[in-house]
Amino acid sequence: MRKPIVIGNWKMNKTAEQATLLVADLLPELQKIKDVDCVVCPPFTALMVVSQMVNNTGIGVGAQDMYWESAGAFTGEVAPQMVKEFCQFVILGHSERRTLLGETDEMVNRKVKSAVANTLIPIICVGESLKENETGQTREVVERQIKKGLEGVTKNQLESLIIAYEPVWAIGTGRAATKEDAQRVIGSIIRKLLSSIYGDETAQLIRILYGGSVNGQNAAEYFLMPDIDGALVGGASLKAPDFLSIVKAAVK
Ligand code: PEP
Repeated sequence: MRKPIVIGNWKMNKTAEQATLLVADLLPELQKIKDVDCVVCPPFTALMVVSQMVNNTGIGVGAQDMYWESAGAFTGEVAPQMVKEFCQFVILGHSERRTLLGETDEMVNRKVKSAVANTLIPIICVGESLKENETGQTREVVERQIKKGLEGVTKNQLESLIIAYEPVWAIGTGRAATKEDAQRVIGSIIRKLLSSIYGDETAQLIRILYGGSVNGQNAAEYFLMPDIDGALVGGASLKAPDFLSIVKAAVK
């Protein structure tokens, strides 16, 4: 039995002050919901204040990225130990970082290994571009991203990790994947691949999320699919009523 999880990726939105307002709106309702894990991922500059606000509420905090080294001359980067002061989770390999900032599968893999070594829970994002989708390369791309992203990750380490299938063409576009397509990629490609590498028992424990234009209207249909264990939500996580309606849709 995999517990549903809904994760809000605020991207480059919300000052620390705006973050406190959003969390204040979310907290009373989120605290009532026990059957769904909830995580918010503010920008680095708001992590401290958000982590203080959600302390002891059961709501998780995640960073949107981190570097793999623990300290040194890496101007502008943030180390796992720094992230860990405020977070339990870290989003890695988001498509915006892959496409806009040149993040490669190898870099994602270094970050994943560094996160698990520091007992942070990585939320690894994978997904094909529109062109790759239209030319029938979804399986190849997603399998490559998972295999390379997880290189060197042991069975034990895998058990706490989260994977998000986010087709690039569905992110921030309002053009969400159908529930059938999302289920097919998550169940027949991703979980099947995990099963072939780590065994079926382990693969069945891993939470795999769908992300890409999820909102309060379409969320429930994804959560009914057998292999979709929640959502990674961008735009709709920035307003309390929208995010709350998605979390409520995940209650079984
Ligand atoms: C995301 O940023 O991970 C995402 C899925 O964005 P949106 O929900 O806005 O499509």
